[in-house]
Parts: sequence; C-alpha cells; structure tokens
Amino acid sequence: MANVSFSKVEKNFGKFKVIHGISFDIADGEFVVLVGPSGCGKSTLLRMLAGLEPISGGEISIGERVINDVDSKDRDIAMVFQSYALYPHMTVRDNMGFSLKLRKADQALTAQRVNNAARILNLDALLERYPRELSGGQRQRVAMGRAIVRDPKVFLFDEPLSNLDAKLRVAMRAEIKALHQRLKTTTVYVTHDQIEAMTMADRIVVMHDGIVEQIGTPLELFDRPGNLFVAQFIGSPA
Ligand code: ADP
Ligand code: MG
Repeated sequence: MANVSFSKVEKNFGKFKVIHGISFDIADGEFVVLVGPSGCGKSTLLRMLAGLEPISGGEISIGERVINDVDSKDRDIAMVFQSYALYPHMTVRDNMGFSLKLRKADQALTAQRVNNAARILNLDALLERYPRELSGGQRQRVAMGRAIVRDPKVFLFDEPLSNLDAKLRVAMRAEIKALHQRLKTTTVYVTHDQIEAMTMADRIVVMHDGIVEQIGTPLELFDRPGNLFVAQFIGSPA
C-alpha cells in the first residue's frame, strides 16, 4: 500500500496543454474517484501515474518516491482497462499469471497467487476457459484478477465498467468495492458517471478542462458544491 501525491502536474500534447498544474494527495488505502466530462483529462492523469505517458511538468510520487522517471513496470501499480485487454489465445489461468511470468516469478508462487485471486473473484471454476467462453462480467473479473496477482501498491481503473450493461455495472461496482474492503489497496478509479463516483468513492476529485474543480467526500460535494459546475455535474442544487 502507499499514498499517492500529485504536485503541480502538467501535461502538453505538442502545443496543447491538457492538464494545467494539478495538485492533490491520496491517502494510503483510500478509494479515490476521478470524475468529469469526456475529454477533461482523467485518462491522461491516470496514464501519467501509470507511466504510460510522460509528465510535462510537476511531480508525481508513490509513497516517498518521485516516480516521474521510473519505468512503468517498476512503479508497483496495476491498471484495469475498459477493454479488458485479455489475451484471446490464453486461458484465464494463463492470462492471470502472465505478468508474473514476464517478471520471471517462481512458478509455485505464480500458481499460488493465481489460485488465491481466483478464489477472491469467484473464478475458480473458469480457470481453464478462454476469454471468448466468458461473459462480459467474467472477463472484467479476470482483468481484475490479473491486477490482483501482482499485489501492487496502487490499483488504477479507467472506466472499467463502460462496456457492461446497466444491471451488471451496478453488480460490478459492489464487487470492486468489496474487493477494496478486503485488500485495502490504494485505488484511483476513473469514470465519467456521477452515480458511480457517488456510490464508490471515499473521496471524489471533480475534473473539468484539465483542472480540479473540487475534492471531497460524496456527501461534501453534494451538500456543499464549490461552484456551479460541480453542482450541475454532481446533480445537487447550487
Ligand atoms: P478523459 O479521459 O477525461 O475523457 P483524456 O485524458 O483522454 O480525457 O483527454 C484529455 C484531452 O487530451 C482531450 O482533449 C484529448 O483529446 C487530449 N488527448 C488525449 N490523448 C492525446 C494524445 N495522445 N495526443 C493528443 N491529444 C490527446
Ligand atoms: Mg478517458
């Protein structure tokens, strides 16, 4: 586990500035949701934390360590994507173990971590199946399993439920929260869905056009929105 700190973080794509000096801290074990309209910079901020995009200015730290120049694979984070990104030619077991295999982990340890993650996510019976033989919800659980086996300090989710139907989305929210209660891993969760943010977050970071409009618990944002944008986005009276 670890705290995460953004300090005056900026991002330019060529001459376009898309993140304008964002600063906030995430506590060890906290579940923070980044929310805001499409294009406001949520994925870009998450991808900089993950090491998938270079940081144009400022600093990002995990624990005591500034990670600006740390390679993505050495950051001790695991990311779950909307698209699942499962390998179609590999079984569930091999999909879940693959990142450990890449890191040359011991086979017995890999098997143990995969079995453990499968038990937590209720995937035991599906370990020898291929992704095409799974439902959308099951695929999403495999994608989470792949993150869990790494035992990372921080979990990142980028709109993980967008491809699921409404009913399954609600069920998966509860599963992800239950997982967090159990593992207590620091989590940064991106969504454009206010309801998802309100029901899942310890604290919500409301973004708009590359800045942070407000940070607070769901109740704080609902009761005391700091401005009209937050009020309208969260859906409370200004
Ligand atoms: P969100 O995830 O909130 O929808 P993004 O972080 O994907 O927003 O995008 C923020 C802004 O950065 C958008 O204006 C988007 O067009 C731009 N952007 C994202 N990725 C790139 C890129 N690789 N090159 C140029 N512009 C990009
Ligand atoms: Mg995005």
